[in-house]
Amino acid sequence: MDSRIRNYRVKHDLHDSESEALTAIISSMSQTSSPPLIDSFGRVHTSLRLSVTDRCNIRCFYCMPEKGAEFVPKDHILSFEEIYRLARLLVEEGGVRDIRITGGEPLVRQQIPRLIEMLAGIELLEDLSLTTNGMLLAEHAQALHAAGLQRLNISLDTLNKEVFEKIARRDGLERTLQGIDAAIKCGFKSIKLNTLAIKGVTEPEVAELVRYALERDVMLRFIEFMPLDTDRAWQQDQVFTGDQLLVTLQKEFDSVVPLSRPEPSQPAEEFQVEHGRVGIIRSITAPFCEACNRIRITADGAVRNCLFATSEAPLRGLIRAGASDEDLMSAIRGCIAGKSKAHGIDQDGFQPPDRPMYAIGG
Ligand code: SAM
Ligand code: SF4
Repeated sequence: MDSRIRNYRVKHDLHDSESEALTAIISSMSQTSSPPLIDSFGRVHTSLRLSVTDRCNIRCFYCMPEKGAEFVPKDHILSFEEIYRLARLLVEEGGVRDIRITGGEPLVRQQIPRLIEMLAGIELLEDLSLTTNGMLLAEHAQALHAAGLQRLNISLDTLNKEVFEKIARRDGLERTLQGIDAAIKCGFKSIKLNTLAIKGVTEPEVAELVRYALERDVMLRFIEFMPLDTDRAWQQDQVFTGDQLLVTLQKEFDSVVPLSRPEPSQPAEEFQVEHGRVGIIRSITAPFCEACNRIRITADGAVRNCLFATSEAPLRGLIRAGASDEDLMSAIRGCIAGKSKAHGIDQDGFQPPDRPMYAIGG
């Protein structure tokens, strides 16, 4: 076995089941003589974030500008067939085992259940999920579930209509809440709510948001605000940190018990709060880069090895010029190989990436 993989297993103290899963992926790779996607630090990449559009129906201040958002031309957006080709290649030749569809807002892309059905048919794929702001879920949840979508993450930053409008610069809380309830009725394998943790915005509603999730038996995860806003207004002191969140949770709930992390590559620390679980993702104050197993494909067909990468591998031109599967995999492997050790937000001279969040896919 490749010594870098062995080191990875030891370093991250993988549970037996995780080691078995990794070994299974590696042995299925060796049958096809296709090595897994490994970077120069030995991180094995099995998780793909697939953006299907950079368009969105709202304008969250931490992601998009209020006005004048720039979108890639429509004909630069990968077709479903192009997306499917890349996804299948990454699964069959690269060892990817889970795909999360994202955007922009993925549900503004027409006929998205058709893409889900195509991806769900990839035999070796183990998990297919989607992240959405929930505004179009009431209409689409059933079709997404029927098409084979297994899990949903729904963004919910507030339960207050005025606050929603301040964050999203659009109306939409009512539709989001209707979307969440419609999705819960569909029987997805898992539904999680994502709440950005921002000073002055999140604090007043921590308890209310957690209770809302507990009442519906879904997990809520707080995510520290990252410097990925188009306006480049992010400041470190705007981050409502994991530590501050914990203090607030402990004030509001009788018992907040830390749980062991299910897998090292899972970014959330989990806590038992009453009868449910709450997650905290400390992307800024305790980054999980060491165990990162993610790669990304943007809606216009660029492979990125990190949210904060300053370079990427543009594949759209290659695909449309008739590149072979081998050529595509070689471009992808080159991109993964060049992955940095860590996002470096805490380093002097850190520069946010050229693409804001909506143009990458969170
Ligand atoms: N439109 C969908 C949504 O909002 O859920 C999917 C795309 S959105 C870019 C994916 C996730 O990124 C959301 O949970 C959103 O809250 C998160 N996000 C956006 N901007 C962020 C930022 N600056 N820092 C941390 N997370 C961010
Ligand atoms: Fe749209 Fe999601 Fe970005 Fe908000 S976070 S503007 S919903 S893409």
